[in-house]
Amino acid sequence: MTTQESSSETPVTVAPDPAFAAQAVAGPDLYERAAADRLGFWAEQAREHVTWAKDFEEVLDWSGAPFAKWFVGGELNVAVNCVDRHVEAGHGERVALHFEGEPGDTATVTYAQLHEQVQRAANALAALGVGAGDRVAVYLPMLVESVVAMLACARLGAAHSVVFGGFSADALHSRIVDAEAKVVITCDGSYRRGKPTTLKPAVDAALAKGAPSVTNVLVVRRNGEAVDWTEGRDVWWHEALEAASPVHEAQAFDAEQPLFILYTSGTTGKPKGILHTSGGYLVQTAYTTRNVFDVRPERDVYWCTADVGWVTGHSYVVYGPLANGLTQVVYEGTPDTPDKDRWWSLVEKYGVTVLYTAPTAIRTCMKWGEEFPARHDLSSLRVLGSVGENINPEAWNWYRRVIGAGRTPIVDTWWQTETGAQMIAPLPGVTALKAGSAQVPLPGIAAEVVDDAGEPLGHGQAGYLVLTEPWPAMLRGIWGDEQRFKDTYWARFPGRYFAGDGAKRDEDGDIWLLGRVDDVMNVSGHRLSTAEIESALVSHPDVAEAAVVGATDETTGQAVVAFVILRGGHEQGPDTVAQLRDHVGKEIGPIAKPRSIMVVAELPKTRSGKIMRRLLRDVAEHRPTGDVTTLTDSTVMDAITQGMSATSGD
Ligand code: ATP
Ligand code: MG
Repeated sequence: MTTQESSSETPVTVAPDPAFAAQAVAGPDLYERAAADRLGFWAEQAREHVTWAKDFEEVLDWSGAPFAKWFVGGELNVAVNCVDRHVEAGHGERVALHFEGEPGDTATVTYAQLHEQVQRAANALAALGVGAGDRVAVYLPMLVESVVAMLACARLGAAHSVVFGGFSADALHSRIVDAEAKVVITCDGSYRRGKPTTLKPAVDAALAKGAPSVTNVLVVRRNGEAVDWTEGRDVWWHEALEAASPVHEAQAFDAEQPLFILYTSGTTGKPKGILHTSGGYLVQTAYTTRNVFDVRPERDVYWCTADVGWVTGHSYVVYGPLANGLTQVVYEGTPDTPDKDRWWSLVEKYGVTVLYTAPTAIRTCMKWGEEFPARHDLSSLRVLGSVGENINPEAWNWYRRVIGAGRTPIVDTWWQTETGAQMIAPLPGVTALKAGSAQVPLPGIAAEVVDDAGEPLGHGQAGYLVLTEPWPAMLRGIWGDEQRFKDTYWARFPGRYFAGDGAKRDEDGDIWLLGRVDDVMNVSGHRLSTAEIESALVSHPDVAEAAVVGATDETTGQAVVAFVILRGGHEQGPDTVAQLRDHVGKEIGPIAKPRSIMVVAELPKTRSGKIMRRLLRDVAEHRPTGDVTTLTDSTVMDAITQGMSATSGD
């Protein structure tokens, strides 16, 4: 492995390990083929990764732009692609899911067993009147049944709307009503940090607020907590599945059959109900899973730590991995139960080869310290992935050194609920890696960095990230709101998809994400990136996490305001703030020095673990805070607001 030393402006690149490259699934030819004939390339991927009941006639119909139709005329059943065909190919005995409950109970589900459960569940849902074109709400934690429920909907051609199990009854209610769900699938409860939790009461409360579309609630028995029961409406999952036939003849559906609705995490405002369809989505999730994670079903044990309540759990727990016939780990609980080494014990126990997680989790592990991963043998790991936010170079290096033994490639994957699948990421074994950069559009994907007027920018200049060509897994709309779909994504730069993120290319042409455009600051005419200043702060040995926002400032237009969490064991001293300001000045330049830095115990995060900068901006500008419905813990904001008014005078 060659490592190129360089200054802090030119980041270190890590060339692919020759032994890894020699065996890698992806080769450099993927880029060449995609560049030579983009649509032909996608047709090839579609036939390689998906089994079509009826072949498609046209790759893309973009005549109704921005409403796309991919693989026109093609028919498939998504669940058959994820389950049946692996059993038919003789892999029924392969483990699909290694389930591990938080209390330590386990279940091993083979593809043959998954096949039977999905068929029974499809029959059970059909018996409750669910059919093609209907919607089903799924409000479950990480259980085998969550995967089965989603696949059963797909098998019937019904769209699921998964609502994260940590959301309140109100959030659940608005999502059930918006999608007009016919059935809600939930459970009695789950476990969190060693204690039983309940889910069914939130469903009862949501339905009590009025949801006329819902006829039944299917209830998985997980932790045995007592539940209220509405006769005629509520049905036990296990009873319905036992009563159902284990055989279900799957029908093929049009490539554009709706597969699911999923709400975005609400980092920038009110969540949007994103609609995805079947063929294109499955093609791109399967293709990216195989190439970006370098997986082979007979070799790898894959683990994506995302909850099925987020798009990562849809695309990289359910559809992408199962379409590839992979063996994977599904874990119900938190990383610190019973102790802070739980994840690493699971990696060792199951021999996990590919781990996909979020920067927030990596930074949390950094904060906890290296002794927890050090307790376990992590040598099975081959590839490490990151998604959801910028991974600061500091966290990237820690992830590679401590978890990956300085050996594994790290794939930083940029994508969104809207894009459905990964869009910008290195290919392990092909791309020379660069800490902190998502690097290059995947083969078949076209992205650019443009200025205000939509003109492509040269290397080194910060601007807006746009996707210049449609892609198979792209969203097909915002549920029930055509106009919002056009306005949000297609109006800013006509003909191109505007992602809402700032970005720049470096000297090598690699793409660096700079945070939401709403977060890019203008200080005395200089455009500063929140992500860059945060990375500078995190590179200081005292700092575990940082969030930076721009606040209105009479003299400079905007001023940099930072919120930091110190690493375990570090106390705030009289010079801490001054030292951190100087550190940023040294790393980036005096213009980037924060006007104020507040040391906090916690940062406001969405339930998916992302920092909600818009709330911090409200605080920094002394405004009442905006929509907090997707916030994990609202007391965090109260503490910050009080701290801010106490230190006011900044
Ligand atoms: P909302 O759209 O409601 O504000 P959200 O954008 O957080 O919520 P998601 O679709 O879950 O909802 O997140 C996508 C966003 O996450 C991207 O637009 C980007 O800002 C960020 N993101 C995802 N992956 C990366 C990555 N690898 N590097 C940098 N940012 C990333
Ligand atoms: Mg978004």
